[in-house]
Amino acid sequence: MRGSGYPSAYDVGHQMRDGDFWPHSPDTIDTHEHYDLVVVGAGISGLSAAYFYRQARAAGVRILILDNHDDFGGHAQRTQFTHDGDTRISNAGTFWIEGRYAGVAKRLLSELGIDPEKYQRDNTHPGFYSSLGMGQGVFFDRETFGRDKLLPDPAPWTDFVALYEPTVPPDQAHRWKVFLQEAPLSDKAKHDLYRLYNEQRDYFPGLKPEEKIAKLKAMSYADFVTQIAGCDPMVVTYLQDRVAGSACRLDLYDAYRASGFRHLPGLYGMGLPAYEDHEPYAHFPDGNATIARLLVRQLIPAALPGNTLEDSILAKVDYAGLDNETSPIRIRLSSTAVQVRNVRSSQWQGEGFGDPAVDGDEVTITYSRAGKLYRVAARHCILACWNYVIRYICPDLPAEQKEALAHNVKTPNLWVNVWLRNWRAFHKAKVNYINAPGSYYTSLILQAPIEVGGYRHSSSPDEPTVLTMLRVYAHPGLPASAQHRLGRIDLYNTSYETFEREAHAQLDRMLGPYGFNAAKDILGLTINRWGHGYTYWDPTPSPDDVPYAVRGRQPFGRISIANTDAGGDDSSQMAMEQAYRAVHEVLLL
Ligand SMILES: Cc1cc2nc3c(=O)[nH]c(=O)nc-3n(C[C@H](O)[C@H](O)[C@H](O)COP(=O)(O)OP(=O)(O)OC[C@H]3O[C@@H](n4cnc5c(N)ncnc54)[C@H](O)[C@@H]3O)c2cc1C
Repeated sequence: MRGSGYPSAYDVGHQMRDGDFWPHSPDTIDTHEHYDLVVVGAGISGLSAAYFYRQARAAGVRILILDNHDDFGGHAQRTQFTHDGDTRISNAGTFWIEGRYAGVAKRLLSELGIDPEKYQRDNTHPGFYSSLGMGQGVFFDRETFGRDKLLPDPAPWTDFVALYEPTVPPDQAHRWKVFLQEAPLSDKAKHDLYRLYNEQRDYFPGLKPEEKIAKLKAMSYADFVTQIAGCDPMVVTYLQDRVAGSACRLDLYDAYRASGFRHLPGLYGMGLPAYEDHEPYAHFPDGNATIARLLVRQLIPAALPGNTLEDSILAKVDYAGLDNETSPIRIRLSSTAVQVRNVRSSQWQGEGFGDPAVDGDEVTITYSRAGKLYRVAARHCILACWNYVIRYICPDLPAEQKEALAHNVKTPNLWVNVWLRNWRAFHKAKVNYINAPGSYYTSLILQAPIEVGGYRHSSSPDEPTVLTMLRVYAHPGLPASAQHRLGRIDLYNTSYETFEREAHAQLDRMLGPYGFNAAKDILGLTINRWGHGYTYWDPTPSPDDVPYAVRGRQPFGRISIANTDAGGDDSSQMAMEQAYRAVHEVLLL
């Protein structure tokens, strides 16, 4: 069980939320450590903040980065598995570089030695799976659709498929024929699906494109399909997991974004301009954990040997070297910040210097580690942790700011990596990507065909590989924040045994007819539970029309706020941009 749910990463934060931490806390030990900057959160935003800060000041600045996990990277962590000397790498969370980065994020990638287009061109094998006759499939389960059935997807599109299988399968007409004959759907649902994908119809004739977009943004894709396109509700059920990577279903996805970002059907005849570029375009074997690792190498060169992106892939991190007193930059893991305050140091005592909680000349940061409490001091502090946490650890923040920070309720995400002895059954079933709209795990993705820096993907169905399985926690009909909270409770209350049993049962049902046997073919599972996953903001406008993300991220004395929540959306690019902004705020002081 990885992700955020293991006790040393989870317990202190949740005791803080429940008001149960301070009454039982031990005395604080003063470390007498003093830094130029302390960053809370070692995700891409926190690591980028340390990088930008050092760049803006000088070599030799002293920086401490704290994180509650036992690994750095935040959502961008790696999982790794070795069997008989064959190592498989996968992402635990953050998957790939989406959209063409610009500005500071583009510059940062380049300084890390990442040229996304060159990397993708030189190290990946688009068309690998289709050359083996494999492609996207859809699994109908008997509980939802009346019959278990695995079929080729008649209109394959996912961003994963688009990146690795860029040409449309030539047998499209045949796929529709098979689908219309064999799919366990009513004739009406089949007919509606066919016309949704194949008809060029303008549902809002007479409106200008911007008026159409405004209307589409104001309705969910689920409502568009049933109320505007007049489709059978089963069409929504069939399509519901196509946005699974976002941890939401179609009731929380607006129709414009669903079509533009996720390529869902129905809007082809609406005469809309092309959607802004958000396609994924670079994908490392461990997802964006590679970005986190390269940032760590820049900050603490001895911790990750080598000089290039390629040699970083198989290089081992020296975890003991992350928090070395001889290094000006240190990363202290398994350390949860519990109190962050502006204070006045001894040389600025007395009247006339304002309120120390705002006008202090340094910041103290108290953190909990292995049952003990420690205090460090810094000239500046950047909170690159989650907005929801900040109001608990920053007691002096104004009440309105705390209230604004609380409007972001992050999504629960579950990413399960299944380590497989071989993928013969997938090959036989001709699928490397499966949508399973009614099943426990709704999206199944076989490892991407990447070869980089001595790491090579599994090139034969007889070799071990990794399969990623996603589950979506949805409670349609409730507001997004309630859906996410209920999902989080469910996620954290599910045992390893349940996740394992469901994975075994589902894979046996889907692929058993093609020879899969979970008891023999599964070598291991890594369950990555991200209780607080993507940034998801309450869409209600704030009273003064200033977005809650902007109200919440205001600097407070010597404390500034980074992380994606501060940007109001979620991507690694956003994590870097918010880090850059926060660094330049604190540098003004
Ligand atoms: C499953 C999943 C898949 C994703 N896929 C993509 C993708 O493909 N592409 C993309 O661009 N984005 C993706 N994202 C979005 C992702 O959130 C961002 O890209 C980015 O990794 C977020 O970086 P961050 O530093 O802002 O936040 P995080 O990565 O969340 O880092 C914040 C860190 O602060 C820590 N922290 C919180 N409170 C405290 C405390 N009190 N003390 C110490 N530490 C604390 C957290 O535990 C965490 O480690 C994905 C997210 C998830 C969950």
